Amino acid sequence: MEENDIPESAMVIVAHPDDAEFTVAGTVAAWTEAGCHVTYVLCTDGNTGSHDPDMTRERLAEIRRAEQQAACAELGVGEVVFLGYDDGQLQPTLDLRRDLVRVIRQYKPEVLIAWDPTTLLISDEYINHPDHRAAAQAALDAAAPASAMPLLWPEAGVPHRVRQVYIFGVEKPNVWVDVTEMIERKISALKQHASQLEDWDPTEMVREWGAESGKEKGLTYAESYRVITLERPDTVD
Ligand SMILES: [Zn+2]
Repeated sequence: MEENDIPESAMVIVAHPDDAEFTVAGTVAAWTEAGCHVTYVLCTDGNTGSHDPDMTRERLAEIRRAEQQAACAELGVGEVVFLGYDDGQLQPTLDLRRDLVRVIRQYKPEVLIAWDPTTLLISDEYINHPDHRAAAQAALDAAAPASAMPLLWPEAGVPHRVRQVYIFGVEKPNVWVDVTEMIERKISALKQHASQLEDWDPTEMVREWGAESGKEKGLTYAESYRVITLERPDTVD
């Protein structure tokens, strides 16, 4: 598989504002720079992500949507769709799957980017958030095969087949995207999420993660994926 294939359009589906900036923003910046049209879909508004006793869900949702818009402006992302589910309670329901089918059919992305829903233990210090897993499961289920099935939710739009799914957070990647030139933009997009970072500067961590992912391929900084190609001429659903 070519590692530098850049799609014409892509959709990133994640649970919270900031998820994509921590993980795939270097790829997003590289692709938009090359002319790819990228749409973000945020399943929740991240409206419980605060320990401030004076914060309300409504105000936090507003802050986090604005931070996400600012990060997307930094990365050249064309559209940001907020589905408005509640943070901390996301489930891979049929309602969520149908909502994702609707946006996939509307924007017709060639490539979909999502987390690996099976990733539970990321490190010795982090258990993957249940919302991340729920968004990922619903995203993959929406991409294959739901969005391509004409008799499934016809009210959600004209069927569309996603060509490839880029799954991040995987144990065994098969594609590495070189983000060496984009690492600064990734860091500055991540810094737009000020309500989450507070005083913490994520620069060193982003560089460490990027270097770790790039090591195997001799890249200074990379983001790695398991890429699944869905569209084959001889495939029957
Ligand atoms: Zn998150």
